[in-house]
Amino acid sequence: MDSKQLEHYRELLLKKRQELLEQLGYIRETSFSDTMKDASGENSAYTYHMADQGTDTQEREKAFMLAYREGRLIYHIDEALARIEKGTYGLCQECGEPISPERLEAVPHARLCIDCKSKEESQKA
Ligand SMILES: [Zn+2]
Repeated sequence: MDSKQLEHYRELLLKKRQELLEQLGYIRETSFSDTMKDASGENSAYTYHMADQGTDTQEREKAFMLAYREGRLIYHIDEALARIEKGTYGLCQECGEPISPERLEAVPHARLCIDCKSKEESQKA
């Protein structure tokens, strides 16, 4: 892979990373700060909140799951950026074969070629 291609994927990764960070910031502002406020809630009568608790908890769990998934994705993006630095970017971590450009375009942080990926998934299932 030449340096022009690497630069292209690096930009894709950085852009994706930026988007995720913005989304995470958004999640934190909307859900987590409300949660904090509720938890310290000086003005919250306990019985008053009981009715809402079910949906609150679900919303909170959803927000946590989303943040967790996106956090993991950022980790994978960071790993991919590190591979660009090391010069191993675009190579399958399993078999060492180059990952197809189509796949990298769709999933720039991919660490496995499509064959190894589908093998991994069939093992899990
Ligand atoms: Zn492979």
